[in-house]
Amino acid sequence: MPGDILIIDCVATNRIILKVKLLAAQYRVRPCSNVAEAKAAITASLPDLILIDVGTDTAAVMAFCQSLKAHEDTSLIPIIATGGFSSPQDRVAALEAGADDVLTKPFDDHILQARIRSMLRARDARQELRMREGTRTALGFAEACRDFTAPSRVVIASIGGKTEGGALKLDNCHVSGNAIEQLTTGTERNAPADLYIVDFRSGLLDDAVLFRLLSELRSRSSTRHSSILALLPANSRQAAAMALDLGANDIVTSPVADDEIRHRCRVLLQAKHEAAALRRTVASGLEAAITDPLTGLFNRRYALPHLARLSEQSRKTGRQFAIMALDLDHFKGINDTYGHKAGDEVLRQVALRLQGNLRAVDLLARIGGEEFLVAIPNSDVVHARTAAERLCKLIGDTPFFVGEDGTELCVTMSVGVSLNGGPQADGEEADLEELVNSADVALYAAKTGGRNKVSLSAA
Ligand code: GH3
Ligand code: MG
Ligand code: MG
Repeated sequence: MPGDILIIDCVATNRIILKVKLLAAQYRVRPCSNVAEAKAAITASLPDLILIDVGTDTAAVMAFCQSLKAHEDTSLIPIIATGGFSSPQDRVAALEAGADDVLTKPFDDHILQARIRSMLRARDARQELRMREGTRTALGFAEACRDFTAPSRVVIASIGGKTEGGALKLDNCHVSGNAIEQLTTGTERNAPADLYIVDFRSGLLDDAVLFRLLSELRSRSSTRHSSILALLPANSRQAAAMALDLGANDIVTSPVADDEIRHRCRVLLQAKHEAAALRRTVASGLEAAITDPLTGLFNRRYALPHLARLSEQSRKTGRQFAIMALDLDHFKGINDTYGHKAGDEVLRQVALRLQGNLRAVDLLARIGGEEFLVAIPNSDVVHARTAAERLCKLIGDTPFFVGEDGTELCVTMSVGVSLNGGPQADGEEADLEELVNSADVALYAAKTGGRNKVSLSAA
């Protein structure tokens, strides 16, 4: 899903060239020539990512990055700092000021694009974590803020388990080496690591070995959630872009200072532990109160405060969000004809289909017997209608197979869609109730209009 990118660069030609490239990749782009302009643009609406050149007024840019990271509303916006970075310390300084990545000019387009994709993915995951935490807090399930005092396990994967420049010193970490071949074949003896540093800087190995290793680490259940940092030789532009798309969380090309590697490791470990904390709460008993036991989806109790959070977020970003009321058609008939057990199985399969077709940031809840609710942040009328029609077809176009004999059942679903007012609306809680009502009214219109269809709220 493309996003809104803010470019800050004092050189007009740089802005234009970047803008053209990013527009071609379907991003919305807002160019600014200085920090003051950027601040105004951010106040108008929050971008999804910031690309900032540290060129002329480095001190102001650094202070700006720091202030973005210090402010709750902007702290999750990924920042890529570009510039000449004549010394390794300059890169580290930009990272420490809050840039999530630094690209030394001239940088490669493929790497930039892959980097943007991977950062937006990571941002979505962190945003979801925050939203869930917020909803839990609203429900009175706040977890004490965790501080990650246990040492992290870091494995450096390289040829024969040896790494350039000897062992890397990382605070509060057990660092060990491992041969790439063992990690690729799953024959390593060590426990899974929190962070894998994949060291290919020697340039002696083929890119295919790197790709295979990344795919293996990402697909194996024991390492799927580990962070991965790939260290690559200079000029490995295609491998670098590919590595990000294959699931490396971060890459850096030679020459790179140990300080920079250390900084990147700290950030990656923090992200890994945060995500693990989210999974733990999902697995914990607290979840039972907000989860529907039949489908495993969130229930109404969770959905309503979550919508309030979405509404608040929408007010801050100035972006609309969509609510969909989904209801299976003539479901009573399914129970009557095939039995309640078959009905239950259909409900479970419907939940799976819907979940598989929505992003992590979208909310899917079962709010009644055969009624579901979907909330989609950063949406608009066109996007919401397309998404609703996609979900409608997802249920109606493919039959369900239930019971031991795999009886084929055709099920359809009607969907009512409503959108909040966007930037101008005052988004009070009463509006939220109205929004859910509007989706229900639209659902009713879809039902009376013949079912198996989408209807948009007129409001
Ligand atoms: P419509 O197209 O107007 O929505 O018709 P409908 O039959 O789907 O709607 P109605 O509200 O009349 O009936 C809903 C049915 O859903 C009634 C109930 O038996 C069934 N149902 C509700 N919860 C469950 C459940 O957990 N399991 C099963 N198997 N059925 C359920
Ligand atoms: Mg119903
Ligand atoms: Mg129904």
